[in-house]
Amino acid sequence: QQPLLEVDNLKKYFPIQGGIFSRTVGHVRAVDGVSFSLNKGEALGLVGESGCGKSTTGRTILRLLDKTDGKVLFKGTEIHDLSRKDLRKMRPKMQLVFQDPYSSLNPRIKIGDAIGEALVDHGIASKNDIRDRVKEILTICGLAPYHIDRYPHEFSGGQRQRIGIARALIMNPEFIVADEPVSALDVSIQAQIINLLSDLQEQKNLTYLFISHDLSVVEHLCNRIGVMYLGSLVEMAPRDELFKQPLHPYTQALLSAIPVPDPTKKPERIVLQGDIPSPANPPSGCKFHTRCPFATDICKQAVPEYRDVGSNHYVACHLV
Ligand code: SF4
Ligand code: MG
Repeated sequence: QQPLLEVDNLKKYFPIQGGIFSRTVGHVRAVDGVSFSLNKGEALGLVGESGCGKSTTGRTILRLLDKTDGKVLFKGTEIHDLSRKDLRKMRPKMQLVFQDPYSSLNPRIKIGDAIGEALVDHGIASKNDIRDRVKEILTICGLAPYHIDRYPHEFSGGQRQRIGIARALIMNPEFIVADEPVSALDVSIQAQIINLLSDLQEQKNLTYLFISHDLSVVEHLCNRIGVMYLGSLVEMAPRDELFKQPLHPYTQALLSAIPVPDPTKKPERIVLQGDIPSPANPPSGCKFHTRCPFATDICKQAVPEYRDVGSNHYVACHLV
């Protein structure tokens, strides 16, 4: 079976302009060699602290940003080589759901029109035909159809996220990048949205790349989890394996910070020292060495290889 998505050594660098001639004086290595593949129907969680390159990875995969290097194959086709016209044809298949759908909703446009507009733009349906489609999608997303003529400000945060999901879903996508879709919501509402995404995944055989800074959020939805640090994946494994046997010290630290119901079963809290270094000037060797409690001399000198240690468990650490 061909993977739905193959990402190979993907890099996205942003130039830093400086000096009186605004020359490029350096680069922020936001995504610095990320590789993974995703089968149809999978939900991959991508976690890490803010600024680690998760969102940039998601956006570069969707070609909302141009790549600097590497490959993004969607059903075997390099997304970044497509002509504008072919990219437009591909767009409906790959959708983005983001943290704050409100920011992308025009306050003066009824949500029914906002949800349906992409269908009209893409010539999939005429303005007169979209109402039924929109009502159907609203219902699927847990919003009563009569909401169709309401304006964005009339909805709660959770409802707005349902609108954001409806907007992505109406295009009948195969692959959805969800970028912190519940981070702005109350915990009780978070669970509802996660359940909705999970139901939709089953109904529509969707494939997700689910981005979150919170490991406990990806736990319920994702069958596989990748952990990013400073633009690179440091570990990726099937969910249960990652929770039971995290191998990378950074993953261990993230897991130790999650509250658990039974504190006697809790691993000892690993508190990381210092701040995340700048991605414009990442540390030598293992980029985590400035904060790793187990760092030795070799960690400062040699980049640990990101490799498969068995049963689809990848990790980059000299200790493992
Ligand atoms: Fe820590 Fe060294 Fe492993 Fe990096 S390679 S995570 S610094 S032990
Ligand atoms: Mg982000």
